[in-house]
Amino acid sequence: MNVFEVMIMDMKYVQTTCPYCGTGCSFNLVVKDGKVVDTAPPYHRSPVNEGKVCPKGTYAHEFVNREDRLTTPLIKKDGKFVEATWEEANALIAEKFKSYTPPDECAVLSSARTSNEDNYALMKFARGALKTRHIDHCARLCHASTVAGLAASFGSGAMTNSIGDIAESKCVFIIGSNTFEQHPLIGRRVMQAKMNGAKLIYADPPFNLYRKAG
Ligand code: SF4
Repeated sequence: MNVFEVMIMDMKYVQTTCPYCGTGCSFNLVVKDGKVVDTAPPYHRSPVNEGKVCPKGTYAHEFVNREDRLTTPLIKKDGKFVEATWEEANALIAEKFKSYTPPDECAVLSSARTSNEDNYALMKFARGALKTRHIDHCARLCHASTVAGLAASFGSGAMTNSIGDIAESKCVFIIGSNTFEQHPLIGRRVMQAKMNGAKLIYADPPFNLYRKAG
């Protein structure tokens, strides 16, 4: 076996979805010797990001192997955190959860940084295992007003078109959103629409990149 063959064996590309913002870009994680070392464009171009990744997605993998990342559970004993096994941590968490009676005393808050599948699993855990009806998502904080507005205007509190449609729009109206920084690959579609001659109407108090782009 030559050196090249060894390198190929130790390295693999794992297609995944960027969890950094809600755009859902697809890319590969480069895994070498069992460690995530880089990101790379996907073999198949997703219609969401067409093989592109923004700087946030490009470097988001770096936290995986950071030295200051916790890799073992810590349990507080006598005011100090001490390393514990997962079995010990899980047993402690289960014991604490059991102390809440009725179970509705427990509330579960999920994150937009996780995938739909993870959010679904947490919902099942909350309702099925903890038996609480109090399950919510951080998007409640930032999107509750848009959901109500969209439902009243379009009949659905969710996105009414695909991301690709934005690039083909004749007029794009953005209000209260800094999409170019918060969801850069959607911002790219807005700029594509603008380059195709679309009118861009932007309304937001802070100065941002849309205004710079004219
Ligand atoms: S726009 Fe950037 S941060 Fe958001 S999902 Fe795509 S690559 Fe990740």
